Amino acid sequence: MAPQALDADFGIYVHIPFCQHICPYCDFTTYAGEESLIPRYVAALTRAVEREGERLGHRRVATVFFGGGTPSLLDPEQIAGVMEAIARSFDLAADAEITLEANPNSADQARFAGYRAAGVNRLSIGVQTTNRRGLRTLGRNHEAADAQAALIAARRAGFDNISLDLIFGWPGQTREGWAADLDTVLGWEGGPDHLSLYSLIIEPGTPMADAVTRGILHPAEDDLSADLYEDAIARLTGAGWLHYEIANFTRTPGLHSRHNTIYWRNGEYLGLGAGAHGRIGRERLINHLHPRAWSDAIERGERGVSNSETLTPAMEEGESMMIGLRLLREGIGEPEFLARHGRTLDDAFGDTIANLIEIGVVERDGGRIRLTERGMMVANDVAERFIADPEAG
Ligand code: SF4
Repeated sequence: MAPQALDADFGIYVHIPFCQHICPYCDFTTYAGEESLIPRYVAALTRAVEREGERLGHRRVATVFFGGGTPSLLDPEQIAGVMEAIARSFDLAADAEITLEANPNSADQARFAGYRAAGVNRLSIGVQTTNRRGLRTLGRNHEAADAQAALIAARRAGFDNISLDLIFGWPGQTREGWAADLDTVLGWEGGPDHLSLYSLIIEPGTPMADAVTRGILHPAEDDLSADLYEDAIARLTGAGWLHYEIANFTRTPGLHSRHNTIYWRNGEYLGLGAGAHGRIGRERLINHLHPRAWSDAIERGERGVSNSETLTPAMEEGESMMIGLRLLREGIGEPEFLARHGRTLDDAFGDTIANLIEIGVVERDGGRIRLTERGMMVANDVAERFIADPEAG
């Protein structure tokens, strides 16, 4: 693999593919009605952690992220069991960021205190919207009051690093409604430290896509989604929040998502559990999708990987640009790119960067390449300019 910066963080992603019900817009790897598999799945996670720890030489771990699905369906003792396995199988940093995603209605103060005692020090709560019509359109089975109560319970349980997820651009949403959403969560007692704002993408094959096809729901126009995004940026940055990544804002600069920053820096991470992705060296790995299939594989002594791909140097360089540009402040550092890929940014993408600067979507200053404000609004188009030909390099 190309040299990594010496201080590059390594993270572990643990996927919990269980939900009480499936939201109509969801295309994550998750299953409803399979909760009876959870004990077996947790045991398989523990075995996989131990095996990977051995294989990766008890590598230093800077972040752990329990994502889903609904990780808060796991009891604190189950999360503690996985965390203990990570601590004895890897060199878990004393200041490691340990995040757990929680649904507002699967959490109370005692449960949160249990996660805190298990080592979790960051919570990400899926609020999505505080608008009742929006919650029903998104098929969420909680109310705004549940999300507010979850935030208060998390604070009382000792969490001082809490992120909330919100979705914008859902069918029927208005600019006024979105402004009210933002004002509501910012006004909650013990308000969030971090916000992730996701533009709703109606993925083919989901029940929501079917409702759109049948004319029952009408997706937000692109112009409205762009307005909603710009409104949020203005509202949050006006209140002193730092917009550090396309979809992410923090009230306190140190409380950005360290785990996701590993992804955005195109770093390495281990993916554990059904459907999890990992990136180790030049290998991209994808695990078996169903928790039963993944647990079976682990119990047979296998790694649980269903697909792997070896990235070419050109693909790695392209990914560093595509993902790195999402970091609005940091962008891509020229020395870091050279250290990571063994050649300069100009050797790799000189013409493309010059063209993007000329049309005003990218800027280069102080040894870094970043999106401009205009570039931020067309970030996907800019990213596409760096997609590598898989046959090259
Ligand atoms: S809670 Fe999240 S992961 Fe579960 S079905 Fe809803 S959107 Fe998907």
